Amino acid sequence: MLKFIIACSTAMLSCFSISQEVVDTLETEKGTMLIYANRTWEYLEDKEFDGLLNPELHEFIMRDSSLNYVCPWDTDQCYSSNKTNDLTKLKDTLWLCVVDTSHNEFVMPFDGKITSRYGYRRGRYHNGIDIDLKTGDTVVSAFNGKVRYAKYNDAGFGNLVVIRHYNGLETFYAHLSDINVVPNQEVKAGDFIGLGGNTGHSRGSHLHFETRFYDAPMNPEEIIDFKEKIIRNENLFVHKGLFRPGAMPSHVASPTADGSAAYYRIRGGDTLSQIARKHRTSVSRLCQLNNIRPTTTLHIGRSLRVR
Ligand SMILES: [Zn+2]
Repeated sequence: MLKFIIACSTAMLSCFSISQEVVDTLETEKGTMLIYANRTWEYLEDKEFDGLLNPELHEFIMRDSSLNYVCPWDTDQCYSSNKTNDLTKLKDTLWLCVVDTSHNEFVMPFDGKITSRYGYRRGRYHNGIDIDLKTGDTVVSAFNGKVRYAKYNDAGFGNLVVIRHYNGLETFYAHLSDINVVPNQEVKAGDFIGLGGNTGHSRGSHLHFETRFYDAPMNPEEIIDFKEKIIRNENLFVHKGLFRPGAMPSHVASPTADGSAAYYRIRGGDTLSQIARKHRTSVSRLCQLNNIRPTTTLHIGRSLRVR
């Protein structure tokens, strides 16, 4: 019986075809690699893998049939089941081992200054925490796990890596300038997964980092002490209070009364008043939307929210 199917690396799509001759296979800690004649490579996908990295936890959740939570292994959608999983309906408190004896590691995804926290911010929910970095800085996996999603996301995340972990959580790493992993690749805490950047809806280079449980975002600071750069507690008690009712899953602004948010990428020679005129808004509104001052220096390539 054929147990494995080939997993496509988005990075490789442009330069290999499925008919490529496999010249070697390599058993690595990160999975089985196929080496092609043209020197490209990819990881094998285990066809029988159901996406469950914490089966005990999933079994516990499944005992409550009214919840009907799903966590598919979807390498194409960063979250696919947000309409199904309503974490505010959780009746029990689940005990989750953030780090345990077999997967006992945590590493800060990037050691930088926190520039924005989780929560309600300028008219929308911010589903993660922003860590300041320079484009090209190394971003690493926070825990051991398996890469589920690794590609450009046009809903605002830019280049995005999503890793599912053995503790039952998923972590999101957004706005990367480059991605260094492919779906189905196993990673260890501290493994290099990509370079920091300013892609997607981002104003200036930073890492947008999210922690999610069954697709629902929770405050990363419930889990990680960003000041001490350690796990707050090896036990995490997951209860409905950690989740927001009717949570918009997206990193992107929730739609406003006059339509959804819009962004503009700054070009050379732009001024705030020109941008405001072009988008039929005012300088003060732009300042309010972007939390900047009229005198703020505009950086070419950065995105400004204009609506
Ligand atoms: Zn952010």
